[in-house]
Amino acid sequence: MPVHHPPPTFPCEEHGHSPGYPRPNPLLSFWLQHTRNSPLLGHHTTGTLPDKTDATIIGSGLSGAATAYFLLTAGPEDRRPRSVTLLEAREACDGAKARNGGHYYPDYKADFGQEQALKIIQNEMDTLNLVEEIIAKEGIDCDFWRAFTYDIAMDQPAADSLAASYAEFAADGGPVEGIVTPILDPTQAHEATRCQAALAAYKCPAGVLFPRKLVLHLLGLCIEKYGMNLQTRTPVRRVVPRISSAGGWRVETDRGAVETETVVYATNAYTATLLPEFVEHIWPFKVKSMLVDDQDLAGKIG
Ligand SMILES: Cc1cc2nc3c(=O)[nH]c(=O)nc-3n(C[C@H](O)[C@H](O)[C@H](O)COP(=O)(O)OP(=O)(O)OC[C@H]3O[C@@H](n4cnc5c(N)ncnc54)[C@H](O)[C@@H]3O)c2cc1C
Repeated sequence: MPVHHPPPTFPCEEHGHSPGYPRPNPLLSFWLQHTRNSPLLGHHTTGTLPDKTDATIIGSGLSGAATAYFLLTAGPEDRRPRSVTLLEAREACDGAKARNGGHYYPDYKADFGQEQALKIIQNEMDTLNLVEEIIAKEGIDCDFWRAFTYDIAMDQPAADSLAASYAEFAADGGPVEGIVTPILDPTQAHEATRCQAALAAYKCPAGVLFPRKLVLHLLGLCIEKYGMNLQTRTPVRRVVPRISSAGGWRVETDRGAVETETVVYATNAYTATLLPEFVEHIWPFKVKSMLVDDQDLAGKIG
């Protein structure tokens, strides 16, 4: 699958420094503008934090919500945690997941080497299918639409680059069948994509959804059906080993501390603030997603 995401060029924080905490008043994303009546706004399942909990998840994006969902529903019942607490610095699902494009599709990342790139693309296909399965199973209303996505070449260098990337993917043994369909005739590429300047296009399976609706539904389900404790507006400041007993952790926030056996960091760009060993590896970047709702314009840009 072609690689054509431009590398990030404007880090908002210097590489090698702690990213700090999520800012308390971020820009209101497109998705959040439509969900200001969410029952989870400012949610505290209990007025104060529980003293103890089996598992504590930090961060309520899709990683945190999916972790909670699978911890509470998957595997043998006697091995599931009896109590799960989720701590979120901002509102529920107010990080990258509340700001993204809502697209799910496999993307071949040759930079990672053949073996890893093939595992990634398989994992992405599996994720697309799993997301569809869970949405159907739980009856989640999140505007999910199983569709296709196109990588479009609008000039010859782009067409050459996409062709080379496709050839590399196929030569590496990539599962082309059903995953990447090249459309090399410009007229057909134009018709398929409605992009007038298309010289070639590569079609692959994809899904589109309203990401925040998916996450809020999963969080609501975990709270109502499985007793999860969600605490929004509760930034975690520190995680330290528990002193008084063998093992476990003390998760410290501005609203008190929770003692816990297991901590899951679903903190995305802010992970290195709590786990400094990731300072060199994970740091926030500014990325913009653009919504084009003008049909004429949509056909003219790539
Ligand atoms: C503009 C944009 C467009 C994108 N488009 C797509 C797309 O179309 N398709 C796609 O698959 N991916 C896309 N992505 C990437 C995708 O959004 C992320 O990979 C995904 O949202 C990560 O989910 P997450 O749950 O790991 O992180 P997040 O959604 O960022 O959640 C992390 C949460 O942790 C919380 N947190 C952090 N530190 C603390 C702390 N100390 N205490 C308590 N809480 C804390 C944050 O407030 C946040 O709510 C896009 C990203 C951006 C920014």
